[in-house]
Amino acid sequence: MIIGIDDTDSPRGMCTTYLASVLLDELGVYGKIIKPPLLVRLNPTVPFKTRGNGAVAIAIETDDIKFIKEHVINRVSEMANLEDNGTNPGIVFVDAGDVLQELTLFYERALKTLLTIEDAMSVIAELGIDFYGFKNKRGLIGALAAVGAWKILTSSDADHTFELIAYRMRERWGSKRQIDEASVWNADRRTYPLVWDTVDRSLGDIIFAPHSPDPVLFGIRGDDVDSIFKAFEMIRSEDYERYTLFLTNQGTDAHYIEASISELQEYRSYIIEGTVTSAPRTIQGGHVFFKLDNMLECAAFEPTKSFRDVIRSLLPGDRVRVFGGFKNRTLNLEKIEILLPVSEVMQNPVCICGRRMKSMGKEQGFRCRNCGIRKKERESVKIERAIERGLYEVVPSARRHITKPLVREKADNRNVHVVR
Ligand code: ATP
Repeated sequence: MIIGIDDTDSPRGMCTTYLASVLLDELGVYGKIIKPPLLVRLNPTVPFKTRGNGAVAIAIETDDIKFIKEHVINRVSEMANLEDNGTNPGIVFVDAGDVLQELTLFYERALKTLLTIEDAMSVIAELGIDFYGFKNKRGLIGALAAVGAWKILTSSDADHTFELIAYRMRERWGSKRQIDEASVWNADRRTYPLVWDTVDRSLGDIIFAPHSPDPVLFGIRGDDVDSIFKAFEMIRSEDYERYTLFLTNQGTDAHYIEASISELQEYRSYIIEGTVTSAPRTIQGGHVFFKLDNMLECAAFEPTKSFRDVIRSLLPGDRVRVFGGFKNRTLNLEKIEILLPVSEVMQNPVCICGRRMKSMGKEQGFRCRNCGIRKKERESVKIERAIERGLYEVVPSARRHITKPLVREKADNRNVHVVR
């Protein structure tokens, strides 16, 4: 049986992964837990999310289905932040047989589109899935999708990553986290690039620990389990209550849809190829905007920091591929690939005296004010660019959980400009 759970937390506390970690210990008495459990990130643009739109799935080989259901429902009702308006837990219990394949499609939809509670209820009815929903039951969307991810993420050729999450002692929830920063920098030095997003070197910040009142002490993300545990051993911090290693779709770009501008819909994430058609402009607050194909407003917001320098260096005519979430008719950039940067610009001709000629009016040609020499046409001039072909990314602290860090990009023939 695979159990999917979502929407148990609120900005005031709790974390669905913590609930999963507790259940992993407790459910062992009913059967054999299959490890690792899943931490699945879904559509990052959904308006209802608390933080990173995460949901969890736990698999167990068991005959005690009735007791497990009771246990899980009781635990969720005890631990979830039910008093918070935005917390609407959902739990599904799925027989890991035939329906898994059909749920895969629901996972894809939850990654890439905006779903309704009715969408989840109709799949539940169609496939005869056992469920329990609290309040408006919105958590059923994430719970179903987390189970739907099982087949994809555990297949041998699937792109997946891992995260080890350590949880705080209960009496310390809400207080400042005690973490020895030097040990974190050291762990990063010894385990990067198999472990990533522990620190943001570009800003000099430690980014693997939240600042919110939830039970998470820190999370160590990476491609390689041994390296994650090596980092874990090196990090010195306050005592932790427990830890769990999750298999995840974090850092895999699973949320993007390749599309053309005419197909865009709000609250989805896209990869779009086009030509820069306006010079980038910076507005108050440090956000940078440019237009793609005269139609699509693309934005690099202030928290993306040095990524904005790349965007500011764009010139009309540059051929690019943009990656980002589409909200309020604007694509919020997460990455950009420069496909063909403009290398020449047309300028007024230069006279033999060295001065640039002046235009004499529309289609009248050009004339040197110094020597009177005339020329008919503008001439093309090679320019030095601050950017080159290849992929560029936002700084680690501004990255979405699900966006693939460029350090994970297999460098086939694409040039990657990793920020760390
Ligand atoms: P955390 O990262 O701490 O786990 P969260 O950001 O995951 O918090 P949730 O509390 O899980 O936030 O809230 C997200 C809500 O959005 C859940 O109810 C989930 O079922 C729902 N949801 C997930 N994916 C979609 C989607 N594609 N369309 C609509 N709703 C979704």
